[in-house]
Amino acid sequence: MKVLKFGGTSVGSPDRIRHVADLVLERGRNIVVLSAMSGTTNSLVEISEYLYKGNIPGAQETLNALEAKYDAVVDALLTTVGGRAEALKAIERSWEMIRTYFERADRRKPFTEVQEKEILAQGELISTALMFAHLRERGIRVAMLPALSFMRTFDSGEPDMAYIREKLSILIEQQPEAELFLTQGFICRDSSGKVANLQRGGSDYTASIIGAVLDLDEIQIWTDIDGMHNNDPRFVEGTRPVSRLHFEEAAELAYFGAKILHPNCVLPAKLHNIPVRLLNTMQPEAPGTIICNTAPDGTIKAIAAKDGITAIKIKSGRMLLAYGFLHKVFETFENHRTSIDMIATSEVGVTVTVDNEARLAAIVDELKAFGTVSVDHDMVILCIVGDLEWHNAGYEARAVAALGDIPIRMISYGGSNYNISVLVRKEDKVEALRRLSASLFS
Ligand code: ASP
Ligand code: MG
Repeated sequence: MKVLKFGGTSVGSPDRIRHVADLVLERGRNIVVLSAMSGTTNSLVEISEYLYKGNIPGAQETLNALEAKYDAVVDALLTTVGGRAEALKAIERSWEMIRTYFERADRRKPFTEVQEKEILAQGELISTALMFAHLRERGIRVAMLPALSFMRTFDSGEPDMAYIREKLSILIEQQPEAELFLTQGFICRDSSGKVANLQRGGSDYTASIIGAVLDLDEIQIWTDIDGMHNNDPRFVEGTRPVSRLHFEEAAELAYFGAKILHPNCVLPAKLHNIPVRLLNTMQPEAPGTIICNTAPDGTIKAIAAKDGITAIKIKSGRMLLAYGFLHKVFETFENHRTSIDMIATSEVGVTVTVDNEARLAAIVDELKAFGTVSVDHDMVILCIVGDLEWHNAGYEARAVAALGDIPIRMISYGGSNYNISVLVRKEDKVEALRRLSASLFS
């Protein structure tokens, strides 16, 4: 058995829902995880924002538009009176639930985070209700596995794997006749049983958790790209999907804007050794990318870039032969809840990068107590990923040589066996990506 997750665009219209149904029906008795139809979670966030501000007409208008959209989807997708009635009943329940919060807000009761989470959960409840009704119209014995009955997190937000395994196994065993299982991505309950979620984009995480707890054969993430490409196709011509990646390599790439895979998604799958396959809904026969714990050695797999990076250098004579200097520097960032990405050190200085300038002024101010501080804005991290264990000589040299006369602000190598990170100016990014592709992949 496998778990197949389809994102918001994959189920973004009645045609695409039908197409996903065709796809899953050809693939046997599996578990299908769906996101909300594209745009829906954003609309639900918008409704919540209006409610926080007490702007009920704003919330009403957004909900009315959403309701009209779904009326049209039901009309176009479902063909039987029974099917339409079944789907509409489920969907109406969602709208009614949201409207009770309008009334409360009318009575000037404050809108809370708990209520917001309940509102955000409706997108996945609706998309799965639609798919369920559609499959039933096609005569399929589909069983719903309600995520709110088995997906649970601890207070830390970590999934309660033992609980999920137990509940989910029971739900599946109770439905031996089912030809296909369907469940909601993203939504869960917290440790006290309140509706919660796995953060935006969390449906990948749902799939990974399900694959891990049930020890399934494969976790498939279906999107509209044919796998993880070896460079950014927006800037470099002739990029190719990487056929096989190590989990560690995928984790390195996830931070660097390889947005087709949610970073958290990697962990349960990796720990339980379940391969993750990235596939394209529009090109189902394309091999995509498989991510697993074994991947070919001695090759560079992919290059990615992350924009909006700021480098902060702290230079101090006090760093020479002293201990505790780096601790003070890092603590400053920690106090401002700003995470550090790259680091380079010398005997008398250290440069770190951050991708968030919200607290920069205060951080720089405090760092001045420890040394002379300078800041470079508008930088880009280039990340070269592959089998870069230090005994594999020559790759570092090729990467740096490929950059030629492009000024390099800093380099980080050896932090893991899987990457080299290079910091360059924003204006050099595209040329750098092209040169790296030309040198490392041709
Ligand atoms: N619907 C949720 C979101 O838009 C979860 C997901 O799509 O993965 O963030
Ligand atoms: Mg996604």
